[in-house]
Amino acid sequence: MRINTHLADMNKAYLFAEIAARVAEYSKEQPPHEIIRLGIGDVTLPLTPHVAKAFSDAALSMGTPEGFRGYPPYEGYDFLLDAIIRNDYAPLGVTIGRDEVFVSDGAKSDTGNIQELLSADARIAVTDPVYPVYVDSNAMVGRLGKRTATGYERLVTLPCTAENGFAPDLPEDAPDALYLCSPNNPTGMALTRKQLGHIVNWARAHGTLIVFDAAYKAYITDPDVPHSIFEIEGARECAVECCSFSKNAGFTGVRCAYTVIPRELTATADGRTIRLGDLWRRRSESRSNGVSYPVQCAAAASLDDIGRAEINALVSHYLANACIILDGLKQAGLTCYGGVNSPYVWLKTPDGMSSWDFFDMLLRKAQVVGTPGAGFGAAGEGYFRLTAFNSEENTRRAVERIISTI
Ligand SMILES: *Cc1c(COP(=O)(O)O)cnc(C)c1O
Repeated sequence: MRINTHLADMNKAYLFAEIAARVAEYSKEQPPHEIIRLGIGDVTLPLTPHVAKAFSDAALSMGTPEGFRGYPPYEGYDFLLDAIIRNDYAPLGVTIGRDEVFVSDGAKSDTGNIQELLSADARIAVTDPVYPVYVDSNAMVGRLGKRTATGYERLVTLPCTAENGFAPDLPEDAPDALYLCSPNNPTGMALTRKQLGHIVNWARAHGTLIVFDAAYKAYITDPDVPHSIFEIEGARECAVECCSFSKNAGFTGVRCAYTVIPRELTATADGRTIRLGDLWRRRSESRSNGVSYPVQCAAAASLDDIGRAEINALVSHYLANACIILDGLKQAGLTCYGGVNSPYVWLKTPDGMSSWDFFDMLLRKAQVVGTPGAGFGAAGEGYFRLTAFNSEENTRRAVERIISTI
C-alpha cells in the first residue's frame, strides 16, 4: 500500500509530550515541592449542577420507550440551535438562522475539518504563535508542502508579538484562508472591534475566508472586544465562526461545539455560485452521525438562565486566577500580556531567556510547569504561557514560587 507521506512526515516532537517528558525526568530527582501545573489548557472545575442534571435526565430518558432516540439530526437538534441563536447571538444584535448553525463534537474537529472545503492547493495563513490544529490539519493533507526549519514551504505565517500589539500585519498577496483565534490561545490577547474590522475589510477585498475560532469568547470582559466576528459589518460574506462549550461550560470531556456558516458566504467554481454552508452540510452528513442527545441537552441547559448564571461563576473563577497571575508577575517586574479577556497569561521571558530555558528554570527552581511560547511557533520564542485552569490556592502558591525564583 502507499500511505499518506504528508502524515508520516509530520513533526513528532509534540509540545505537550516534550513537556511531560521533562517533568517526568525531573520528578525522579525528588523535587523539594509538589509540582504545580499551569501548563495544559484543560478546565479543572466540574460540570455545574443544572447542566449535570440535564445531562443525566436525558441519559435516563434514553432508557425509556418514550424517551429513546436514535440518530440525531446531522446539524443538531432544533432546541439546541434555537438556544444558541437566542443566547449567544441575539443579545449581540446578531441575527443567525437555524440553517446557519452546525453542532458538532468539538471546535478542534471543526477547525481541523473546515479545510476540507478548500481546494487542494489553497494558500493558508495562520497567526504565529498558533493553536497547532490549524496548521496540522492542512499539513496532513499535503496542502502546505514540505516542512522547513520554522514551518512549512507553503504556509503563510503572520507574527503576532508585542511589537505589533499581537494583531497580525496583513499581507498584500492574500491567502485563500486565514485562521484567527480571538481571544487568542496562546497569547491571551483579543482583537478589538477596530482591529477585527480592518481584517474583515481586507478579507472581503481579497476573497479570503476567515476561520474565526471564538472558543474563549465567554472570557471577554472588555466592551471593545467583539464576542462574535458577525458583530463586524461584512463578516457574513467572508467568515465562519467556531465556538465550543469546552472552556466556558467545562465540556472538554463531554464534547460539544458549533460552527456558524452564514448564507452569504459563497464561492464561485466552474461558473456556479456555491454556498460554503451547503458544502459543510454535505461533508458533515458523510463524515458524522451527529452529537448525542444527552450531550445536546446538557449544552442547551448551559445556555438557559440558570445555566448561564452557573457558567458565569466558572468563568469568573478562572478569570480571577488569571488576574492573580497577571498582578503577581507584573509586580515582580515581568512583562505580561493577556489574562484580561482570556484564561491565559503570556509573559516575556526575563533577560532574553529562551522559552525552553525559562521552562526548565521554573520547573527546577519553582516546581511550576508552564508552556514554552516557542512550542506554538517561531514568533512565540522568548514568551511563556501560564494558564488559569487550576484552584485559586495552587495559582497563588505557583505565583509566589515564581516570584521568589526570578
Ligand atoms: C480549547 C480550544 C478549543 C476547543 O476545542 P474543543 O474541541 O471544542 O474542546 C478550540 N480552539 C482553541 C484555540 C482552543 O484552545
